[in-house]
Amino acid sequence: METVAPYKDIIEVIKASGGDAFKRCFQCGLCDVVCPWNRVRNFSMRKLVREATFGLTDIESEEIWRCTTCGRCPQQCPRDVRQIDSGVALRRIATEYGVFPQSVKPIRTISGSLVGEGNPLSEDRAKRGDWAKDLPVNTFTEGMEILYFPGCYLSYDPRLKKVSRATAAILNKAGVDFGILGSQESCCGESIRKTGDEDVFKRLAKENIKAFVDNGVKKILVSSPHCYHTFKNEYPEFMVHFEVVHITQYLLELLREGRLELKGEYPRAVTWHDPCYLGRHNGIYDEPREVLRQVPGLELREMPDSRSDSLCCGGGGGRIWMETLKGERFCDLRVDQAAQMGAEVLATACPYCITNFEDSRLTMGFAEKIEVKDITEIIQEMI
Ligand code: SF4
Ligand code: SF4
Repeated sequence: METVAPYKDIIEVIKASGGDAFKRCFQCGLCDVVCPWNRVRNFSMRKLVREATFGLTDIESEEIWRCTTCGRCPQQCPRDVRQIDSGVALRRIATEYGVFPQSVKPIRTISGSLVGEGNPLSEDRAKRGDWAKDLPVNTFTEGMEILYFPGCYLSYDPRLKKVSRATAAILNKAGVDFGILGSQESCCGESIRKTGDEDVFKRLAKENIKAFVDNGVKKILVSSPHCYHTFKNEYPEFMVHFEVVHITQYLLELLREGRLELKGEYPRAVTWHDPCYLGRHNGIYDEPREVLRQVPGLELREMPDSRSDSLCCGGGGGRIWMETLKGERFCDLRVDQAAQMGAEVLATACPYCITNFEDSRLTMGFAEKIEVKDITEIIQEMI
């Protein structure tokens, strides 16, 4: 194994980055047993941990960029190695030294777009609210019931704008007093942080916190589990606490309170995919299932690898911005599982999952066989 001569301080940097939990590992290998990478190719978190313990990590290699931060292995680890924090610590070192393998180079462009325009898609900040231009959606003002924060992909991506528009239609139908921040909204910063770019994360978090405070925001509704995770679990690092609710939780609340009524029939077999950052990272498993069970005519089927065993789509940890070779995409396995269950609809509530699954169903020739829907798109058909 090559010793990383220019990076002699690696152990110190890992410690400083909160990654010193590496040394607790006793090499049992349980992490590798559950890691989705080992369904498609060899990858060993156990080996990465071992190398890091001795300061032998090759931070120029692809391996430190593989982890999707899906949360499966920390759940299993008997020694609380906290593989995600430790793995991100390695990426921070690579980012600090500016060493990236070819597949990760686009992240530099993404960082630039995040700093310049507040989104990773090289889109104009000024156009962030355009998805709602022709809809009855107001700018948030203090005293409104809730801020709707669609996030980057639902603001700009043509497929995902259907989801933000469906959400707005549902909120209006339920009489929710909501508003958006449009160009004052910035990327939540969750994924860029997982690539090791702490500076850009902090910058984005501070921009959002300022916008929330300046506008008197107290309660935030999000569509993306990545925004949910960051606002709820990471923004408190900046000594702020906003009430954060994910759309799957809010839909159930609206149904229970009788503010939303479902009409007609949805006579289709539907399977629910638990996004990693909604389920494993935040324990939200029951709410989306309860919402779907309330849809008249809908038949809910469970896939193998569901709830806390959910199979990652491959998009977390910044992997949504990296190229994954055909034959190595977890999303293909997941779409195949859904089809095997006889599901006509693969439902979920995460922009990365939807992007990856839409790509899989087209490249796998399943376009006629199965549809991919955000939960709001199903509910929108029933109101
Ligand atoms: S599961 Fe934990 S203790 Fe076991 S090899 Fe992996 S990191 Fe080490
Ligand atoms: S968090 Fe998920 S992708 Fe990352 S090493 Fe663990 S099991 Fe593999």
